[in-house]
Amino acid sequence: MLFRALNAAVAVGVVLLGFAGSAGATGPQTRTVNNYPTAREVRLAGDDGQTRLVVDLSEKIDIRTFTLANPYRVVIDMPQVAFQLSSKTGETGRGLIKAFRFGLVMQGGSRMVIDLARPARVEKAVVLEGVNDQPARLVLDLSAVERDAFMRTIALENRAPEVAHRSERHADGKSEDARPLVVIDPGHGGIDNGTKASSGETEKALVLEFGLLLRDKIEKAGKYRVVMTRTDDSFVTLADRVNFARSHHAALFISIHADALARGEGDAQGATIYTLSETASDSTAARLAESENRADVIAGLDLSAEPDDVADILIDLARRETKTFSVQFARSLAGEMRNVARLHKDPLKSAGFRVLKAPDIPSVLVELGYVSNRRDLKSLTSDTWRERTADALKRAIDNFVTTRLAGGARTAGQH
Ligand SMILES: [Zn+2]
Repeated sequence: MLFRALNAAVAVGVVLLGFAGSAGATGPQTRTVNNYPTAREVRLAGDDGQTRLVVDLSEKIDIRTFTLANPYRVVIDMPQVAFQLSSKTGETGRGLIKAFRFGLVMQGGSRMVIDLARPARVEKAVVLEGVNDQPARLVLDLSAVERDAFMRTIALENRAPEVAHRSERHADGKSEDARPLVVIDPGHGGIDNGTKASSGETEKALVLEFGLLLRDKIEKAGKYRVVMTRTDDSFVTLADRVNFARSHHAALFISIHADALARGEGDAQGATIYTLSETASDSTAARLAESENRADVIAGLDLSAEPDDVADILIDLARRETKTFSVQFARSLAGEMRNVARLHKDPLKSAGFRVLKAPDIPSVLVELGYVSNRRDLKSLTSDTWRERTADALKRAIDNFVTTRLAGGARTAGQH
């Protein structure tokens, strides 16, 4: 599915090539999806001492680079760019570059995040004007340095710019509408693809599609208000997802994901529902929480500059009422999903997920299935399965919110 979309995008890019060239003569114009600068090819050269990365671009753009440690990364920020590259691009590297990712980090801003094989210094980062039949080119030269030198560079550089804080858009969160509010949180997005099927489907696209479907169903029923942490392919930090729910005084937070096992790790299938806990319920849950908590690292955010909020989880866990409600909802959700979808053999688990740490909002994370499993992937991309499963989620939400309100528990809007 994603492959088809990608091929279509590439085809459009080729058709527009001549157009973009002639438009340039008439000066800048309003950007639409089809006329962002495009990146069409990435090449790597060099060895463990010095490595060069070249990106072919449709036009010259401004860039800014900075480095991050733990793990060692180089980040290139740029205006929004349409990356017309194969879905495998960046999975493997060369020399000092282990791998790299690219995508949207905010409206109007794209980013490349380069994972380094060892500490390295940016010797050169420029965008060369296109000449004759040569496209514009971004050139990044890296050379190996010791860790000490790397850390000194970071200290000298400016801090990484903050990714736009979406929660501020609705900072007050107050509403005339007294209906309880449900927050749907499609995982990943933008530069963070999440897991990926061998056929190319990405978790970020699958869970967004499912989230939008669920939102429409809840909206149509009219009993609750519903908002999403993202409605398009952009990146949202883990903290912003939590803050978004809190600023909206959500009655329930549901994060939607799709897991994968790496090749050689065997096969697993079915949906799993996770709640927050101090100690992971088993090693699979621990592994998953660790990988889901890496979203901000993947997007090139400097986590060393932030306090370790995993420690907060321990304090927050004392808020027993919220935890009890989360577990209650998870159970009821498993009950509803069991009738329509395959569940994992052990469908209720818990671990230290950063995205579940709102102290006052019952929160669950649903892994809809495994994109690495053929049958699960077939389900995840099937309209019938999605309809049935979203209906099951909606029923569980209904039960939960209704029971909670009837029981005289806190209503939405109160803290
Ligand atoms: Zn995920």
